[in-house]
Amino acid sequence: MTIKNIHNILTIDVEDWYMDTDISCWTKYEDRIVTSTDRILSILGDVKATFFVLGYVAERHPELIKRIHDLNHELGTHGYSHKPINRLTPLQFKKELIKSIKIIKSITGEEVVCHRASNFTIMKNTSWAIDIMKNCGIKYDSSVFPVKTPLYGMPDAPLYPYQISTEHICGGSSEGIYELPLSVLHLPLKNIPIAGGFYMRFFPYELIKYSIKSINKNGRSAIIYLHPWEIDVEQPKIPELKWFHYYNIHKTETRFKQLLKDFEFTSIKRWLYN
Ligand SMILES: [Zn+2]
Repeated sequence: MTIKNIHNILTIDVEDWYMDTDISCWTKYEDRIVTSTDRILSILGDVKATFFVLGYVAERHPELIKRIHDLNHELGTHGYSHKPINRLTPLQFKKELIKSIKIIKSITGEEVVCHRASNFTIMKNTSWAIDIMKNCGIKYDSSVFPVKTPLYGMPDAPLYPYQISTEHICGGSSEGIYELPLSVLHLPLKNIPIAGGFYMRFFPYELIKYSIKSINKNGRSAIIYLHPWEIDVEQPKIPELKWFHYYNIHKTETRFKQLLKDFEFTSIKRWLYN
């Protein structure tokens, strides 16, 4: 089996470069999301991906969302205000989710059935969010990261797609939604996060390649993510964003292009139903 035989899943989290700050500050920063997302679209060429769009972005740039949709990529929701779920109440989460779904649906005319939480914050203490998602029409989610980090993670979660519910956050549910966890390199003592984004900038590319190859050798697909701002080398530097936001940003585009050469990718929808 060559590594080109298995389709991996590519996901793009459509948020602007400053959206890890609080929404109350956002209007003072330069809007760069259209240029960076268009750049991603042109790099992708014929490769299809799932774009998890922030409701706030969709509201301000409906033409961008329409363009992504017209190119036959899949659109999912990334919530509205980019607040991690562990900083929202169940009611706030539900309101934000419904609001973002409504905005995206009004642009594409299609149901929004997939979701990614801000900062991968589907964890044990936010499992209440899963039943809310299900009740709002979400059929699959890609927010669980089977690693331990200071901000997020569920190191004992399954490494590959599984059914998840509020009651069965680590699997075993027959009536939940489908969870597509972010990819890790599974080592005896620890899972190493290699699913793209910061990790693709931090680790040597060869480690990322080796890890995806290992996943594919087991007959599994890797689930990878990227943000449009990660290829935007001219974005402003502000003290509110920490070093890891900017780390190796000048290397992302080359690595991303190499990834597309080395592996086959598709959207979640095509991966599930084709
Ligand atoms: Zn995000």
